[in-house]
Amino acid sequence: MANSYKDTMNLPQTDFSMRANLPQNEPKRLEKWAQEDIYGKVLEKNKDGKPFILHDGPPYANGPIHIGHSFNKILKDFVNKSHAQRGFYTPYIPGWDCHGQPIEHMVEVTLGPEKMAAIDQPTLRRLCREWAKRYVNIQREGFKRLGVNGDWEHPYLTFTPNYESGNVEVFKDMYLQGSIYRGRKPIHWCSNCHTALAEAEIEYSDEVSPSIFVNFKLDVMPGIFEANGAEGAAYVLIWTTTPWTLPANAAVSLAPDAAYVMVQAEGKNMIMAKDLVEQVAQEAGWADWALVSDAEGNPVTVAGKQLCGLTYTCPIRQDLQGSLIYGDHVTLDTGTGAVHTAPGHGQDDYLVGLEFDIPVRMPVDDNGVLTAEAGPFEGLSTDDANPKIIEWLREQGTLVAEKKINHSYPHCWRCHKPVIFRATEQWFVSMDENALREDALRIINTDVEWVPAWAKNRIGSMVADRPDWCISRQRSWGVPIPVFRCEKCGEVVATEESFDAVIKLFDQEGADAWFTKKPSEYLPRTVCCEKCGSHDLVPEKDILDVWWESGVSHTSVLKHRAAEGVHFPADLYLEGSDQHRGWFQSSLLTSVGCYGVAPYKSVMHCGFTMDEQGRKMSKSLGNGVDPEEVMSTFGADVLRLWVSSVDYSQDVSISDNILKQVSDAYRRIRNTFRFLLGNLDDFDFERDAVTNFDDLEPFDRYVMVQLADLVKEVENAYETYRFNGVYRAIYDFANELSAVYMDEAKDRLYAEAPNSPRRRAVQTVLMNVLEALVRLVAPILSFTADEVWECYPPAERNREGRPFSAQLAGWPHVRDFVPALPDAQAQEQLRADFAQIMAVRDVVTKALEDARTAKVINKSQEAAIALTAPADVAQLLERYGLPMLEELFIVATVRVEEGDQLSAAVSVAEGEKCPRCWNIRALGGNPSHPDVCERCGDALDALEAAE
Ligand SMILES: [Zn+2]
Ligand SMILES: [Zn+2]
Ligand SMILES: [Zn+2]
Repeated sequence: MANSYKDTMNLPQTDFSMRANLPQNEPKRLEKWAQEDIYGKVLEKNKDGKPFILHDGPPYANGPIHIGHSFNKILKDFVNKSHAQRGFYTPYIPGWDCHGQPIEHMVEVTLGPEKMAAIDQPTLRRLCREWAKRYVNIQREGFKRLGVNGDWEHPYLTFTPNYESGNVEVFKDMYLQGSIYRGRKPIHWCSNCHTALAEAEIEYSDEVSPSIFVNFKLDVMPGIFEANGAEGAAYVLIWTTTPWTLPANAAVSLAPDAAYVMVQAEGKNMIMAKDLVEQVAQEAGWADWALVSDAEGNPVTVAGKQLCGLTYTCPIRQDLQGSLIYGDHVTLDTGTGAVHTAPGHGQDDYLVGLEFDIPVRMPVDDNGVLTAEAGPFEGLSTDDANPKIIEWLREQGTLVAEKKINHSYPHCWRCHKPVIFRATEQWFVSMDENALREDALRIINTDVEWVPAWAKNRIGSMVADRPDWCISRQRSWGVPIPVFRCEKCGEVVATEESFDAVIKLFDQEGADAWFTKKPSEYLPRTVCCEKCGSHDLVPEKDILDVWWESGVSHTSVLKHRAAEGVHFPADLYLEGSDQHRGWFQSSLLTSVGCYGVAPYKSVMHCGFTMDEQGRKMSKSLGNGVDPEEVMSTFGADVLRLWVSSVDYSQDVSISDNILKQVSDAYRRIRNTFRFLLGNLDDFDFERDAVTNFDDLEPFDRYVMVQLADLVKEVENAYETYRFNGVYRAIYDFANELSAVYMDEAKDRLYAEAPNSPRRRAVQTVLMNVLEALVRLVAPILSFTADEVWECYPPAERNREGRPFSAQLAGWPHVRDFVPALPDAQAQEQLRADFAQIMAVRDVVTKALEDARTAKVINKSQEAAIALTAPADVAQLLERYGLPMLEELFIVATVRVEEGDQLSAAVSVAEGEKCPRCWNIRALGGNPSHPDVCERCGDALDALEAAE
């Protein structure tokens, strides 16, 4: 039925389109933001506010951005924008990690081996710098496209002179305190990349290794076994999966309190742990074996500790002698309980070796090739040596068993080749010399807030267990270890004076000068070798670990750039959960080592981005989500909404399907805005707002209270970084608003006279909702919030002095609501009353649904509701009045009776449908408009009067 009164209705009107077209529209908005300098304007607005510094962790400038980067940068943007919205001063300097082996490696690969061999170090460094710059630019554009605000034109780059000098400042402090030393220690070493690797640069994956059991010949038969009849040669049986380390063998470690026995098999006397005999017998395939036993036939056992001090002939270097020692690292879950110990090739071996003063033998060079110290195996790579050594042991008659095993083994994070453990001369930060570990642990526990709180234990246990930090790398692309060596006597020269000269040099010319200038050109004459007085100094060749470099950003950025509004310590660091091992830790250790305090007040971590099934994204699975594709398919605001919807502290799933679901949620929120804007087009807050709370209708009042609750909930969620709490609260509010209030209010909005108090009351509420909602969502849906902001009702949009972006609009305080809310008690009364009324509504809605299904009615407007309700509820309903209920249920009539249980009966209402508003109401109440209901008649009168 065509409604001939359509032109007399107030139908929604807005420029805010239903379709978002984010992929097309967002880039235009970015341009506008850039032109208007939104980042600068936000800072300007909050310049007197309390500073809040989120210090950016630098992504590595190699390759385009991936979805994990996007996830992290968007989270940071939420933090910054929600603080800025609440009035905090939030300068944000994005950064990039530009040095390090991966870039050097890519340049090497691009050049090829011939060109690579022909270029000098300054040229190589220049090419690396260009490579890094290229990816800084690519990534910067990617991050800007996400709508992330920051000082993108002045980021921090770790290869800039002023950044580089910060490394030396921190090094100087820690070195002069005695926290940095040079030592020979086993470290992870990649023979392929020719460099030491930090813990954080190691990944574990499965590897097939040889597993061998080898007899080491003892110099004497231990007395206890001899006394029980054992005779001839005695051996200690060891097990190893790295035969190439046998040339470095210097000891055999036993479990101190475990029982050891002597097994007699295949004509040999072999000592091993009692608990492992059965297992070893099976592995070795002994058909027949026995234990040396006493007169009663009980096996003779002896504690590992008691065998300590026995000596044996080393298995490969038979000119050398090894000894039996013991340590708690020996376990009885596999092997023989007698552990081949080579302090040059393992951390546990190194430590137990220190305790028993065992020599560190290191017959493997930088290329992973065995040296002359390895006797007959000189010149073989560790891989090639394995089968040769096994064969040789077999010939010697000391190989007891051999097989292959598949086990988890450390690999290089870059080239993915297995790494070796190898003692080399390196620079270390001592964890214990100056109580760095102790201080860091105290600070982790008492000074820093960890989000989520359990992360405290994660980084705490990592710091508690970590070895000394090896900070030197044998590469070109980085900041040199800023010390010198005496050319004459080899003494290290590093003094306050020499450090200060290097700081000045780097600050003025960058670290490149280290490789192009002679020390005599920049060191004062007073700097010389303390030992021999020589002035012939050579600069150290090694460079600093990149984790050190990014770690000192607290100095190179927070301190060096304090004039730009940042401060030390930062309020927050926010990175992926792997950074407890990486940047969070290297930042903490350098800051505690140098300044005695943490570089951050709080640390928040986010999980990894996985596919829908929770699998890692990989090229081979084809399950990667490319941020660029997301931008062109869904737009940044959908991605941002997704980021807000997940629990970022865990690993999170993302896929096309998931983004489609998020798009639906986005549309729900968008449509809510569209409804608000459409029905406020003729509204002028100053002219039309209902300014007295009691002049609102009951349901309006309740929605105002709900809105206040929403603002408080969202504020709390932002404050505690629970962005999914923000998302949930806003989404639920929008949902309920559209399902209940907007539905109920349509009649008043469309059919009342434009200026009727009942319509203005709804509009007042909607305006409050709009004003709050657009500010609440702006940190998350930054693009959409601004679009809403531009499509505001003309009276508001054109108001003088209005900021150009919702990001400049400030926080929507409940105290600013118009009309002002009543006291807390009155608010609580409204909540309690409406809890009951909404429960009644649920019953009515269900009854209406049933009636529609049974074809009793077509539309709810045709229904007459007979409610039965317990006395207290019935009285409450009558207090609010039947007309309110008719509007709330969108029905013709409501009758309430007292009864035991709440129930609703639906029948067809008598009476005629008003042709204007389609409600069943008595017609002709207004004699000048006999065809329509009285309300519609009055509306028509008002319209005519206005003409
Ligand atoms: Zn490698
Ligand atoms: Zn000297
Ligand atoms: Zn009507």
